[in-house]
Amino acid sequence: MDLFKPMDNLESKGNPESNAEKANEHVQCLIIGSGPAGYTAAIYAARANLKPVLYTGMQMGGQLTTTTEVDNFPGYPDGTDGTAMMADLEKQARRFGTDVRFGLATSVDFSGKVKKVTFDEKTVLMADSVILATGATAKYLGLESEEKYKGYGVSACATCDGFFYRDKVVAVVGGGDTAAEEATYLAGICKKVYLIVRRDELRASKAMQHRVKNTENIEVLWKHQTKELKGENVVQSVDLYKFKGEENEEIVSYDIDGFFLAIGHTPNSDIFKDYIDTDETGYVNTVPGTSKTNVPGVFACGDLQDKVYRQAVTAAGSGCMAALDAERYLGEQE
Ligand code: NDP
Repeated sequence: MDLFKPMDNLESKGNPESNAEKANEHVQCLIIGSGPAGYTAAIYAARANLKPVLYTGMQMGGQLTTTTEVDNFPGYPDGTDGTAMMADLEKQARRFGTDVRFGLATSVDFSGKVKKVTFDEKTVLMADSVILATGATAKYLGLESEEKYKGYGVSACATCDGFFYRDKVVAVVGGGDTAAEEATYLAGICKKVYLIVRRDELRASKAMQHRVKNTENIEVLWKHQTKELKGENVVQSVDLYKFKGEENEEIVSYDIDGFFLAIGHTPNSDIFKDYIDTDETGYVNTVPGTSKTNVPGVFACGDLQDKVYRQAVTAAGSGCMAALDAERYLGEQE
């Protein structure tokens, strides 16, 4: 799991009192993760009187705190920004009594009926039900300039940020289904989309390849790799290695306004893998139409189990499902 900076402007930085080690603490419902899925699960679980404890992870508020404006979450007619929205969700979860704590789950033991989760390698919590909402982390290329322009022309979510590039020129890097989907989505908004592909073929499904090929304003730059992003304060151009043979490369430059990463996501499921079934890429498998994992009493929601939709609103919906499933499960145990 990536380590993230906690957001300074969120309401809570953790409550030292509630963070204090409580020997043999046993809760009904433990929620791990503080994105839209985790907080929505908390709102529902708290209202059902499950007295949930929610651990935020290192990036309080999740991936949305790395985006600027959020215009597609229902209920915000004038839009909002990701950090403010997550602060609102936290406030709403607390209002119904969720105990929100700052800490990172470092190991789990789901072998027994009572689940054990260790936070920060020292605090052990026992829980009758656990909701996993640890999300996924977008992969970045690892360039210094990419970091510099994050939120200033660099994005890992076309559906979140594409709108700001109306009639502009953007580049998408990647060759899988995500890249193909993001490129075609952006092509409907932007004047021109460069798709930067490191090989001479796409990994994307045939149907998506077909869409890319048939979209006039997408230009695929085959066998290109990103060298550096440039610009004064915001992204204005990208330098690329253009490979012509084994060792032969030249550097080419394109003027762009936005640069979208689409080289995959990593679901934050590593610490659960000894107990929880995942697919080959690490996404948690849930029973279709539910949030149930293979372990009774453990539920998963949000991007941790969704590689297709990955939206705040779908994550929130799945968080609601997880809380309802947990409530039913606990009811059946009585
Ligand atoms: P993938 O792992 O499938 O593809 C990643 C792409 O990024 C590959 O083309 C890869 O290149 C490229 N890449 C990786 N690292 C780098 C790098 N450092 N520099 C340049 N390029 C790089 O990830 P996706 O997110 O596209 O898809 C993940 C899964 O989700 C897949 O199973 C996909 O089918 C699924 N998905 C399904 C959707 C749907 O059903 N609607 C939508 C989106 C995703 P290379 O090919 O050379 O390895």
